[in-house]
Amino acid sequence: MPSKKALNPPVGQCRQCWLHAYDSREQHKHLAPREDCPACVSHMGGKCPDSMIVKG
Ligand SMILES: [Zn+2]
Ligand SMILES: [Zn+2]
Repeated sequence: MPSKKALNPPVGQCRQCWLHAYDSREQHKHLAPREDCPACVSHMGGKCPDSMIVKG
């Protein structure tokens, strides 16, 4: 179960990146030990879709 913090990113943060950062173990448990997370990779380098950014 993600923590309250993991589910409540501050304004300007990407919901997915925040969740994967603060609930990393749970969000990445289906991956092999050194396997990249496709969700994280797709957002890498600031490519977060605007629709996933928390608005103020
Ligand atoms: Zn991830
Ligand atoms: Zn993102």
